[in-house]
Amino acid sequence: MNYEEIIRLDREHVWHPCTQEKDHERLPPIAIERGEGSYLVTARGERIIDAVSSWWVNLFGHNHPRLNRALLEQSQRIAHHIFAGFTHEPAVKLAHRLCERAPGKLNRVFFADNGSAAVEVALKMSFQYWQQSGKPGKTRFVSLTEAYHGETLGALAVSGCELYRKTYQPILMQGFSVQGPDCYRCPYGLHRDQCDAPCFEHMERTLAAHHREIAAVIIEPLIQAAAGMRIHPPIYLKKLRALCDHYQVHYIADEIAVGFGRTGRFFANEHAGTAPDILCLSKGITGGYLPLSVALTTDEIYHGFYDDYTTLKAFLHSHSYTGNPLACALAVEVMNIFDEEDILGGLEPRMDMLEAARARFEAHPHVGEMRRCGLVAAIEMVESKEEKRGYPWQQRRGYRFYQEALKRGALLRPLGNVIYFMPPLNIPQDVLARVLDIAWDCLEDITRES
Ligand SMILES: *Cc1c(COP(=O)(O)O)cnc(C)c1O
Repeated sequence: MNYEEIIRLDREHVWHPCTQEKDHERLPPIAIERGEGSYLVTARGERIIDAVSSWWVNLFGHNHPRLNRALLEQSQRIAHHIFAGFTHEPAVKLAHRLCERAPGKLNRVFFADNGSAAVEVALKMSFQYWQQSGKPGKTRFVSLTEAYHGETLGALAVSGCELYRKTYQPILMQGFSVQGPDCYRCPYGLHRDQCDAPCFEHMERTLAAHHREIAAVIIEPLIQAAAGMRIHPPIYLKKLRALCDHYQVHYIADEIAVGFGRTGRFFANEHAGTAPDILCLSKGITGGYLPLSVALTTDEIYHGFYDDYTTLKAFLHSHSYTGNPLACALAVEVMNIFDEEDILGGLEPRMDMLEAARARFEAHPHVGEMRRCGLVAAIEMVESKEEKRGYPWQQRRGYRFYQEALKRGALLRPLGNVIYFMPPLNIPQDVLARVLDIAWDCLEDITRES
Protein backbone atom coordinates (compact mmCIF):
# COMPACT_ATOMS: atom_id res chain seq x y z
CA MET A 1 0.00 0.00 0.00
CA ASN A 2 1.34 3.44 -0.72
CA TYR A 3 1.44 6.15 1.91
CA GLU A 4 -1.63 8.05 0.75
CA GLU A 5 -3.66 4.86 0.59
CA ILE A 6 -2.84 4.01 4.22
CA ILE A 7 -3.84 7.46 5.39
CA ARG A 8 -7.01 7.47 3.31
CA LEU A 9 -8.21 4.17 4.79
CA ASP A 10 -7.21 5.31 8.27
CA ARG A 11 -9.28 8.46 7.94
CA GLU A 12 -12.18 6.41 6.64
CA HIS A 13 -12.31 3.73 9.33
CA VAL A 14 -10.00 4.26 12.29
CA TRP A 15 -10.67 6.01 15.59
CA HIS A 16 -7.42 6.83 17.42
CA PRO A 17 -6.81 6.88 21.18
CA CYS A 18 -6.71 10.10 23.16
CA THR A 19 -7.24 12.14 20.01
CA GLN A 20 -9.64 14.77 18.76
CA GLU A 21 -10.06 13.18 15.33
CA LYS A 22 -10.74 16.57 13.75
CA ASP A 23 -7.09 17.48 14.40
CA HIS A 24 -6.27 14.91 11.72
CA GLU A 25 -7.74 17.23 9.09
CA ARG A 26 -4.66 19.40 9.53
CA LEU A 27 -2.16 16.90 10.87
CA PRO A 28 -3.03 13.43 9.60
CA PRO A 29 -1.69 10.42 11.47
CA ILE A 30 1.81 9.38 10.48
CA ALA A 31 2.12 5.91 9.01
CA ILE A 32 4.99 3.92 10.50
CA GLU A 33 6.49 1.02 8.66
CA ARG A 34 9.49 0.00 10.73
CA GLY A 35 11.46 0.69 13.86
CA GLU A 36 15.22 0.82 14.23
CA GLY A 37 16.55 1.25 17.74
CA SER A 38 15.48 4.67 18.99
CA TYR A 39 13.96 5.56 15.62
CA LEU A 40 10.55 5.12 14.09
CA VAL A 41 10.68 4.94 10.31
CA THR A 42 7.65 6.13 8.38
CA ALA A 43 6.17 4.45 5.33
CA ARG A 44 7.83 7.28 3.37
CA GLY A 45 11.22 6.48 4.86
CA GLU A 46 11.49 9.50 7.21
CA ARG A 47 13.20 8.81 10.53
CA ILE A 48 11.73 10.06 13.80
CA ILE A 49 13.48 9.78 17.17
CA ASP A 50 11.11 8.06 19.58
CA ALA A 51 11.90 10.27 22.58
CA VAL A 52 8.79 9.17 24.50
CA SER A 53 9.39 5.42 24.10
CA SER A 54 6.10 5.13 22.19
CA TRP A 55 3.91 6.08 25.15
CA TRP A 56 6.44 4.89 27.73
CA VAL A 57 6.47 1.24 26.74
CA ASN A 58 9.67 0.80 24.77
CA LEU A 59 12.75 0.05 26.87
CA PHE A 60 15.60 -0.96 24.58
CA GLY A 61 14.63 0.42 21.19
CA HIS A 62 12.56 -0.97 18.35
CA ASN A 63 13.31 -4.09 16.37
CA HIS A 64 15.62 -5.40 19.07
CA PRO A 65 17.48 -8.56 17.96
CA ARG A 66 17.21 -10.37 21.31
CA LEU A 67 13.53 -9.55 21.77
CA ASN A 68 12.80 -10.47 18.16
CA ARG A 69 14.45 -13.83 18.72
CA ALA A 70 12.59 -14.49 21.99
CA LEU A 71 9.30 -13.73 20.25
CA LEU A 72 10.07 -15.92 17.27
CA GLU A 73 11.21 -18.85 19.38
CA GLN A 74 8.13 -18.77 21.58
CA SER A 75 5.83 -18.36 18.58
CA GLN A 76 7.19 -21.63 17.18
CA ARG A 77 6.10 -23.42 20.36
CA ILE A 78 2.73 -21.86 21.23
CA ALA A 79 1.34 -18.34 21.01
CA HIS A 80 -1.38 -18.64 23.59
CA HIS A 81 -3.29 -21.06 25.75
CA ILE A 82 -5.74 -20.85 28.61
CA PHE A 83 -4.06 -19.93 31.91
CA ALA A 84 -6.72 -21.29 34.27
CA GLY A 85 -5.75 -24.84 35.14
CA PHE A 86 -2.66 -24.61 32.90
CA THR A 87 0.73 -22.99 33.18
CA HIS A 88 3.91 -22.61 31.15
CA GLU A 89 7.62 -22.07 31.53
CA PRO A 90 7.82 -18.38 30.48
CA ALA A 91 5.12 -17.43 33.03
CA VAL A 92 6.72 -19.23 35.96
CA LYS A 93 10.18 -17.98 35.01
CA LEU A 94 8.87 -14.43 34.84
CA ALA A 95 7.00 -14.75 38.14
CA HIS A 96 10.13 -16.10 39.81
CA ARG A 97 12.38 -13.38 38.40
CA LEU A 98 9.95 -10.59 39.33
CA CYS A 99 9.55 -11.84 42.90
CA GLU A 100 13.32 -12.11 43.26
CA ARG A 101 13.73 -8.55 42.08
CA ALA A 102 10.75 -6.96 43.81
CA PRO A 103 11.13 -5.15 47.12
CA GLY A 104 9.87 -6.60 50.41
CA LYS A 105 7.76 -9.71 50.59
CA LEU A 106 6.05 -9.52 47.21
CA ASN A 107 5.96 -13.18 46.33
CA ARG A 108 2.82 -13.79 44.26
CA VAL A 109 2.13 -12.73 40.70
CA PHE A 110 -1.31 -12.29 39.20
CA PHE A 111 -1.26 -11.83 35.44
CA ALA A 112 -3.39 -9.48 33.34
CA ASP A 113 -2.93 -7.89 29.94
CA ASN A 114 -2.68 -4.10 30.24
CA GLY A 115 -2.00 -1.45 32.85
CA SER A 116 -5.59 -0.52 33.62
CA ALA A 117 -6.42 -4.19 34.09
CA ALA A 118 -3.58 -4.55 36.62
CA VAL A 119 -5.03 -1.59 38.54
CA GLU A 120 -8.49 -3.17 38.49
CA VAL A 121 -6.94 -6.38 39.81
CA ALA A 122 -5.17 -4.52 42.61
CA LEU A 123 -8.31 -2.68 43.70
CA LYS A 124 -10.50 -5.78 43.65
CA MET A 125 -7.86 -7.86 45.39
CA SER A 126 -7.49 -5.34 48.21
CA PHE A 127 -11.25 -4.94 48.62
CA GLN A 128 -11.96 -8.67 48.63
CA TYR A 129 -9.09 -9.37 51.01
CA TRP A 130 -10.67 -7.13 53.65
CA GLN A 131 -14.12 -8.60 52.98
CA GLN A 132 -12.69 -12.01 53.80
CA SER A 133 -10.48 -10.92 56.68
CA GLY A 134 -12.99 -9.59 59.14
CA LYS A 135 -12.89 -5.95 57.99
CA PRO A 136 -15.81 -5.69 55.55
CA GLY A 137 -16.15 -1.97 56.23
CA LYS A 138 -12.99 -1.29 54.23
CA THR A 139 -14.56 -0.54 50.88
CA ARG A 140 -13.03 2.69 49.66
CA PHE A 141 -9.83 3.80 47.99
CA VAL A 142 -7.59 6.80 48.44
CA SER A 143 -5.75 8.36 45.55
CA LEU A 144 -3.96 11.61 44.79
CA THR A 145 -5.14 14.63 42.92
CA GLU A 146 -3.66 14.55 39.40
CA ALA A 147 -3.13 10.79 39.69
CA TYR A 148 -3.39 8.64 36.58
CA HIS A 149 -4.06 4.93 36.90
CA GLY A 150 -5.70 4.12 33.59
CA GLU A 151 -9.00 4.72 31.89
CA THR A 152 -11.26 1.76 32.58
CA LEU A 153 -13.97 2.80 35.02
CA GLY A 154 -12.35 1.42 38.18
CA ALA A 155 -8.93 2.82 37.31
CA LEU A 156 -10.48 6.10 36.24
CA ALA A 157 -12.32 6.34 39.57
CA VAL A 158 -8.95 6.47 41.38
CA SER A 159 -7.46 8.88 38.86
CA GLY A 160 -7.37 12.59 39.53
CA CYS A 161 -6.64 14.01 36.08
CA GLU A 162 -9.80 16.01 35.44
CA LEU A 163 -9.23 15.98 31.71
CA TYR A 164 -9.81 12.23 31.52
CA ARG A 165 -12.22 11.90 34.39
CA LYS A 166 -14.65 14.78 34.40
CA THR A 167 -17.05 13.53 31.74
CA TYR A 168 -17.50 10.19 33.48
CA GLN A 169 -17.79 11.50 37.03
CA PRO A 170 -21.45 10.40 37.45
CA ILE A 171 -20.62 6.76 36.71
CA LEU A 172 -17.45 6.44 38.83
CA MET A 173 -17.21 4.90 42.29
CA GLN A 174 -16.61 7.37 45.07
CA GLY A 175 -13.32 7.38 46.93
CA PHE A 176 -11.12 9.88 48.72
CA SER A 177 -9.01 12.23 46.67
CA VAL A 178 -6.06 13.60 48.62
CA GLN A 179 -4.10 16.69 47.61
CA GLY A 180 -0.87 15.28 46.19
CA PRO A 181 2.63 16.75 46.11
CA ASP A 182 3.05 19.70 43.77
CA CYS A 183 6.75 20.40 44.09
CA TYR A 184 7.13 23.02 41.37
CA ARG A 185 4.40 25.14 42.93
CA CYS A 186 5.09 23.97 46.49
CA PRO A 187 2.60 25.67 48.84
CA TYR A 188 5.16 25.38 51.67
CA GLY A 189 7.84 27.20 49.70
CA LEU A 190 10.21 24.22 49.88
CA HIS A 191 12.32 22.31 47.36
CA ARG A 192 11.81 18.63 46.69
CA ASP A 193 15.49 17.81 47.23
CA GLN A 194 15.48 19.09 50.79
CA CYS A 195 11.97 18.81 52.16
CA ASP A 196 10.40 16.40 54.60
CA ALA A 197 7.17 16.23 52.55
CA PRO A 198 4.96 18.32 54.85
CA CYS A 199 2.31 17.98 52.12
CA PHE A 200 1.84 14.46 53.42
CA GLU A 201 -0.37 16.03 56.11
CA HIS A 202 -3.33 15.72 53.73
CA MET A 203 -2.86 11.96 53.56
CA GLU A 204 -2.45 11.77 57.34
CA ARG A 205 -5.68 13.63 57.90
CA THR A 206 -7.68 11.49 55.49
CA LEU A 207 -6.45 8.20 56.91
CA ALA A 208 -6.84 9.35 60.50
CA ALA A 209 -10.47 10.25 59.85
CA HIS A 210 -11.51 7.40 57.55
CA HIS A 211 -9.14 4.44 57.88
CA ARG A 212 -11.94 2.12 58.99
CA GLU A 213 -13.57 2.56 55.57
CA ILE A 214 -10.34 2.53 53.57
CA ALA A 215 -9.06 -0.59 51.83
CA ALA A 216 -6.04 0.88 50.11
CA VAL A 217 -4.10 3.93 49.02
CA ILE A 218 -2.94 3.84 45.41
CA ILE A 219 -0.21 6.11 44.12
CA GLU A 220 2.32 6.47 41.32
CA PRO A 221 5.64 6.38 43.19
CA LEU A 222 8.02 9.31 42.54
CA ILE A 223 6.58 10.44 39.22
CA GLN A 224 2.96 11.33 38.54
CA ALA A 225 3.55 10.77 34.90
CA ALA A 226 0.36 11.72 33.06
CA ALA A 227 0.00 14.73 35.35
CA GLY A 228 2.98 16.24 33.54
CA MET A 229 5.85 14.21 35.01
CA ARG A 230 5.32 15.70 38.46
CA ILE A 231 8.16 14.47 40.61
CA HIS A 232 8.05 14.09 44.39
CA PRO A 233 10.74 12.96 46.84
CA PRO A 234 11.11 9.38 48.15
CA ILE A 235 10.32 10.56 51.68
CA TYR A 236 6.68 10.73 50.59
CA LEU A 237 6.70 6.95 50.02
CA LYS A 238 8.39 6.29 53.35
CA LYS A 239 5.69 8.23 55.14
CA LEU A 240 2.98 6.49 53.19
CA ARG A 241 4.32 3.04 54.00
CA ALA A 242 4.47 3.88 57.73
CA LEU A 243 0.99 5.40 57.75
CA CYS A 244 -0.56 2.45 55.90
CA ASP A 245 1.03 0.05 58.40
CA HIS A 246 -0.27 2.12 61.27
CA TYR A 247 -3.87 2.09 60.05
CA GLN A 248 -4.00 -1.33 58.38
CA VAL A 249 -4.51 0.04 54.92
CA HIS A 250 -2.94 -1.50 51.81
CA TYR A 251 -0.36 0.47 49.91
CA ILE A 252 -0.79 -0.14 46.17
CA ALA A 253 2.14 1.08 44.09
CA ASP A 254 1.32 1.73 40.46
CA GLU A 255 4.75 1.40 38.83
CA ILE A 256 3.22 0.82 35.41
CA ALA A 257 5.07 3.84 34.01
CA VAL A 258 8.03 4.14 36.39
CA GLY A 259 9.03 0.50 36.82
CA PHE A 260 11.72 -1.25 34.79
CA GLY A 261 14.49 1.26 35.30
CA ARG A 262 12.88 4.54 34.27
CA THR A 263 13.75 6.22 37.59
CA GLY A 264 17.35 5.00 37.59
CA ARG A 265 16.55 2.02 39.84
CA PHE A 266 14.71 -1.07 38.73
CA PHE A 267 11.64 -0.13 40.79
CA ALA A 268 10.84 3.39 42.00
CA ASN A 269 10.12 2.11 45.51
CA GLU A 270 13.80 1.19 45.86
CA HIS A 271 14.63 4.88 46.16
CA ALA A 272 12.67 4.96 49.42
CA GLY A 273 13.46 1.47 50.65
CA THR A 274 9.73 0.79 50.70
CA ALA A 275 7.67 -2.17 49.58
CA PRO A 276 4.00 -1.97 48.67
CA ASP A 277 1.37 -4.61 49.46
CA ILE A 278 0.45 -4.71 45.79
CA LEU A 279 2.70 -3.66 42.93
CA CYS A 280 1.23 -3.02 39.46
CA LEU A 281 3.53 -3.37 36.46
CA SER A 282 3.00 -3.14 32.72
CA LYS A 283 4.28 -0.85 29.91
CA GLY A 284 8.02 -1.66 29.84
CA ILE A 285 7.52 -5.23 31.02
CA THR A 286 7.76 -6.69 27.49
CA GLY A 287 10.19 -4.04 26.26
CA GLY A 288 7.27 -2.43 24.45
CA TYR A 289 6.50 -5.47 22.29
CA LEU A 290 3.21 -6.89 23.53
CA PRO A 291 0.57 -6.00 26.10
CA LEU A 292 1.11 -7.68 29.46
CA SER A 293 0.62 -6.62 33.04
CA VAL A 294 1.02 -8.10 36.48
CA ALA A 295 -0.03 -7.34 40.02
CA LEU A 296 2.48 -8.63 42.55
CA THR A 297 1.36 -9.18 46.10
CA THR A 298 2.35 -10.75 49.39
CA ASP A 299 1.69 -14.27 50.60
CA GLU A 300 -0.35 -12.66 53.36
CA ILE A 301 -2.88 -11.27 50.89
CA TYR A 302 -2.73 -14.47 48.81
CA HIS A 303 -3.65 -16.53 51.87
CA GLY A 304 -6.68 -14.35 52.46
CA PHE A 305 -8.13 -16.10 49.38
CA TYR A 306 -6.70 -19.58 49.90
CA ASP A 307 -9.29 -21.97 51.31
CA ASP A 308 -11.67 -24.80 50.45
CA TYR A 309 -13.64 -24.10 47.29
CA THR A 310 -16.95 -24.04 49.16
CA THR A 311 -15.88 -21.03 51.24
CA LEU A 312 -16.12 -19.10 47.94
CA LYS A 313 -13.04 -17.05 48.73
CA ALA A 314 -11.29 -17.47 45.37
CA PHE A 315 -10.29 -14.41 43.37
CA LEU A 316 -12.58 -14.79 40.37
CA HIS A 317 -10.89 -12.35 38.05
CA SER A 318 -9.76 -13.27 34.57
CA HIS A 319 -8.85 -11.93 31.17
CA SER A 320 -8.82 -14.04 28.02
CA TYR A 321 -5.15 -13.31 27.37
CA THR A 322 -4.01 -13.75 30.98
CA GLY A 323 -0.40 -14.90 31.11
CA ASN A 324 0.07 -14.83 27.34
CA PRO A 325 3.14 -16.98 26.57
CA LEU A 326 4.51 -14.72 23.82
CA ALA A 327 4.38 -11.71 26.14
CA CYS A 328 5.84 -13.66 29.06
CA ALA A 329 8.72 -14.94 26.91
CA LEU A 330 9.49 -11.35 25.95
CA ALA A 331 9.32 -10.24 29.58
CA VAL A 332 11.78 -12.94 30.62
CA GLU A 333 14.15 -11.76 27.90
CA VAL A 334 13.74 -8.18 29.17
CA MET A 335 14.88 -9.36 32.61
CA ASN A 336 17.84 -11.14 30.99
CA ILE A 337 18.83 -8.00 29.11
CA PHE A 338 18.74 -5.93 32.30
CA ASP A 339 21.05 -8.41 34.00
CA GLU A 340 23.42 -9.22 31.16
CA GLU A 341 23.82 -5.81 29.56
CA ASP A 342 24.05 -3.65 32.69
CA ILE A 343 21.23 -1.42 31.53
CA LEU A 344 20.98 0.43 34.84
CA GLY A 345 24.72 1.15 34.84
CA GLY A 346 24.37 2.53 31.33
CA LEU A 347 21.84 5.09 32.50
CA GLU A 348 24.47 7.18 34.30
CA PRO A 349 25.95 9.08 31.34
CA ARG A 350 22.48 9.60 29.86
CA MET A 351 21.12 10.97 33.13
CA ASP A 352 24.18 13.25 33.29
CA MET A 353 23.31 14.62 29.87
CA LEU A 354 19.77 15.46 30.95
CA GLU A 355 21.10 17.01 34.13
CA ALA A 356 23.60 19.10 32.18
CA ALA A 357 20.81 20.35 29.92
CA ARG A 358 18.82 21.50 32.91
CA ALA A 359 20.77 24.70 33.63
CA ARG A 360 20.41 25.72 30.00
CA PHE A 361 16.68 25.08 29.81
CA GLU A 362 15.94 26.61 33.19
CA ALA A 363 17.65 29.82 32.12
CA HIS A 364 15.05 30.19 29.36
CA PRO A 365 12.53 32.96 30.17
CA HIS A 366 9.58 30.63 29.49
CA VAL A 367 10.76 27.52 31.30
CA GLY A 368 9.39 27.37 34.82
CA GLU A 369 11.24 24.22 35.73
CA MET A 370 13.12 21.33 34.21
CA ARG A 371 12.74 18.36 36.53
CA ARG A 372 14.28 14.95 36.27
CA CYS A 373 14.08 11.56 37.89
CA GLY A 374 16.25 8.86 36.37
CA LEU A 375 15.96 8.99 32.60
CA VAL A 376 12.65 10.86 32.74
CA ALA A 377 12.82 14.64 32.43
CA ALA A 378 10.21 17.31 31.88
CA ILE A 379 10.23 20.95 30.87
CA GLU A 380 7.33 23.00 32.16
CA MET A 381 6.64 25.90 29.80
CA VAL A 382 5.15 28.98 31.47
CA GLU A 383 3.78 32.27 30.26
CA SER A 384 5.07 34.02 33.37
CA LYS A 385 8.07 32.65 35.18
CA GLU A 386 7.62 34.94 38.20
CA GLU A 387 4.03 33.89 38.78
CA LYS A 388 4.66 30.32 37.63
CA ARG A 389 1.64 30.85 35.40
CA GLY A 390 1.19 28.40 32.58
CA TYR A 391 0.04 29.28 29.08
CA PRO A 392 -3.76 29.10 28.68
CA TRP A 393 -4.60 25.56 27.56
CA GLN A 394 -6.60 26.88 24.59
CA GLN A 395 -3.33 28.04 23.00
CA ARG A 396 -2.19 24.42 22.78
CA ARG A 397 1.49 25.31 23.04
CA GLY A 398 2.38 21.72 23.83
CA TYR A 399 0.59 20.46 20.75
CA ARG A 400 2.32 23.09 18.61
CA PHE A 401 5.62 22.01 20.14
CA TYR A 402 4.79 18.43 19.16
CA GLN A 403 4.20 19.46 15.55
CA GLU A 404 7.42 21.49 15.39
CA ALA A 405 9.44 18.65 16.89
CA LEU A 406 8.05 16.21 14.33
CA LYS A 407 9.16 18.48 11.51
CA ARG A 408 12.64 18.34 13.01
CA GLY A 409 12.60 14.58 13.38
CA ALA A 410 11.68 13.92 17.02
CA LEU A 411 8.57 12.53 18.68
CA LEU A 412 8.02 14.70 21.76
CA ARG A 413 4.39 14.28 22.70
CA PRO A 414 3.44 16.90 25.33
CA LEU A 415 1.27 16.80 28.43
CA GLY A 416 -0.40 20.21 28.36
CA ASN A 417 2.38 22.79 28.73
CA VAL A 418 4.87 20.13 29.76
CA ILE A 419 7.35 18.69 27.30
CA TYR A 420 8.99 15.54 28.53
CA PHE A 421 11.70 13.07 27.62
CA MET A 422 11.25 9.39 28.35
CA PRO A 423 13.59 7.82 25.83
CA PRO A 424 14.51 4.15 25.54
CA LEU A 425 16.99 3.32 28.33
CA ASN A 426 19.75 2.57 25.84
CA ILE A 427 19.22 5.56 23.54
CA PRO A 428 22.59 6.39 21.95
CA GLN A 429 24.08 9.49 23.52
CA ASP A 430 24.40 11.36 20.24
CA VAL A 431 20.70 10.72 19.58
CA LEU A 432 19.78 12.00 23.02
CA ALA A 433 21.90 15.09 22.36
CA ARG A 434 19.97 15.60 19.11
CA VAL A 435 16.66 15.34 21.00
CA LEU A 436 17.77 18.03 23.44
CA ASP A 437 18.84 20.31 20.58
CA ILE A 438 15.53 19.82 18.81
CA ALA A 439 13.64 20.54 22.03
CA TRP A 440 15.61 23.74 22.51
CA ASP A 441 14.89 24.96 18.99
CA CYS A 442 11.18 24.16 19.32
CA LEU A 443 11.05 25.89 22.68
CA GLU A 444 12.51 29.04 21.20
CA ASP A 445 9.99 28.99 18.37
CA ILE A 446 6.94 28.09 20.38
CA THR A 447 7.48 30.62 23.16
CA ARG A 448 8.28 33.41 20.70
CA GLU A 449 4.92 33.04 18.91
CA SER A 450 1.81 34.68 20.26
C1 LIG B 1 -0.33 4.01 31.36
C2 LIG B 1 -0.64 3.89 32.80
C3 LIG B 1 -1.68 3.09 33.25
C4 LIG B 1 -2.64 2.38 32.31
O1 LIG B 1 -2.01 1.43 31.52
P1 LIG B 1 -2.73 1.00 30.14
O2 LIG B 1 -1.94 -0.15 29.66
O3 LIG B 1 -2.64 2.20 29.24
O4 LIG B 1 -4.12 0.64 30.48
C5 LIG B 1 -1.89 3.00 34.61
N1 LIG B 1 -1.09 3.65 35.47
C6 LIG B 1 -0.07 4.42 35.09
C7 LIG B 1 0.78 5.08 36.09
C8 LIG B 1 0.18 4.59 33.73
O5 LIG B 1 1.16 5.41 33.33
